[in-house]
Amino acid sequence: MSPSPKSDVEPVEIRAPEGARMMEVDWSDGTTSLLPHRILRGFCPCALCQGHHGPIAWVGGDGLSDEALGLKGIELSGQYAVLLRWADGHATGIYRFAFLRTLGELYGQADDAIRAAAFSHDH
Ligand SMILES: [Zn+2]
Repeated sequence: MSPSPKSDVEPVEIRAPEGARMMEVDWSDGTTSLLPHRILRGFCPCALCQGHHGPIAWVGGDGLSDEALGLKGIELSGQYAVLLRWADGHATGIYRFAFLRTLGELYGQADDAIRAAAFSHDH
């Protein structure tokens, strides 16, 4: 749905205050991505959420409890990704930086468009 993001851009700062439902990422190119937790969780790229085939698609974020949308921790995973630890214990989603940038482009889009989005695992 958008040109592939540059892979050499890195996060300078990731903000996810406790209790907030939005993560903010400042990138080394001076841009900022706004990432509502509902979108992050809705596109959790892990095999548990996505299955093993096909693109990364919306897996919901609506039926989830408020706790499931709370972020408990963010850890670097390798050099190009972060692992998100959710308050309900789900901690298998590894988000590549390029994927976070792509997800950031969904911010402010209509719900229909968000639900219809799909992303290649190459991100
Ligand atoms: Zn998952």
